Amino acid sequence: MELSKNKLIEIKSFIQKQAAEAGFQDTRVSNTETSGYFEKYQSWITNARHGEMSYLERNQNLRQYPDQLHPGTCRVISLRYNYLPRDAQFCTPLSDNNLANISRYALGRDYHKLIRKKLSRLCTQLVEHFKQDEQIDFRVFVDSAPVLESSFAEKSGIGWKGKHTLVINQDAGSWFFLSEIFINVPLAIDTPVENQCGSCNACIKLCPTQAIIAPNLVDATRCISYLTIENKQAIPVALRKKLGNRIYGCDDCQLACPWNRFSQITQDADFQPREKLDNISLLALWQWSEEEFSEKLQGNPIRRIGYQSWLRNLAVAIGNSNFHQDKIFALESKKNVANDMVVEHINWAINNLKTNSHEKSTTSQKTLKLINCIKNMLPRDA
Ligand code: SF4
Ligand code: SF4
Repeated sequence: MELSKNKLIEIKSFIQKQAAEAGFQDTRVSNTETSGYFEKYQSWITNARHGEMSYLERNQNLRQYPDQLHPGTCRVISLRYNYLPRDAQFCTPLSDNNLANISRYALGRDYHKLIRKKLSRLCTQLVEHFKQDEQIDFRVFVDSAPVLESSFAEKSGIGWKGKHTLVINQDAGSWFFLSEIFINVPLAIDTPVENQCGSCNACIKLCPTQAIIAPNLVDATRCISYLTIENKQAIPVALRKKLGNRIYGCDDCQLACPWNRFSQITQDADFQPREKLDNISLLALWQWSEEEFSEKLQGNPIRRIGYQSWLRNLAVAIGNSNFHQDKIFALESKKNVANDMVVEHINWAINNLKTNSHEKSTTSQKTLKLINCIKNMLPRDA
């Protein structure tokens, strides 16, 4: 596409301004080159670190060459959107194993639709505004296609990939969603920032399951986020106790990260906790029927895992909590609605509770260290 330098500057400014108005905190541009990043990704797949996420093996050409995924693409626009809710109660569920510990991004509404809607509106405004010039073409992505999302965010300078593999922004930590616009306009590209992890390895040390097997290398098959969300099978017995009360995702590597003392609170009401998910007992959630699960989690990302995975995760968490006879009764009571895989987890939980009945579960050393880390980090308003 032939456009003057001034026109390209004008288009980029327009996109950044509209994105800021839509609530995005950062909008930066990179080219479509994936060399270096793609090879690392392939090696991760070849070494089977992705578990059963077979969709990650497919469409490698599209992942490597963005212009094959959307013809004409010559730039990738990466956008950042904060999601950390106000009063995020980090320490409460870490200190009390009777409470559910849910990843902070999943406390409110599902971000996929919300962010996609914002991006689509932004692009429509863009095309409308510049319709006299050239044919602007685009496609938006929110965690929905073979896109090397964090690599483009790093290339664009939104941040650097931490040793836990998430992108860290030096002014905002890592509590944000990423999304992309593929576009056929040769906008000026932005410069990457320096990796500032330095000699820190707090995330590696405090990961409950030792899933960060080397700097910038996560074995998804050990990662609690994978085990409780993507994984449809049984949770490996050897890892069940390490899950503690984490029933959907895990935030520990982010909680350990000193850069999150700069994290920003979202101003978006859609990402504030619903159904008291930030401070609710495991037993209260266990009592939900399948209908209640679907109804109460309407529009929440947790609903995507389905009721059986929900019960599986809760059974493990209840099995890891303090003993109470009521928990045994409650666990038994769900066997008639659980599938065979979940019944096995219920039996494991009952057995675990009984085995530990003589002693009160104590908070692990790792978790105590994590709580100390968190107390030193006070997120500020955006
Ligand atoms: S999400 Fe949890 S389990 Fe996964 S790498 Fe981070 S700390 Fe480890
Ligand atoms: S905890 Fe330390 S090593 Fe891990 S991502 Fe943060 S700064 Fe990097």
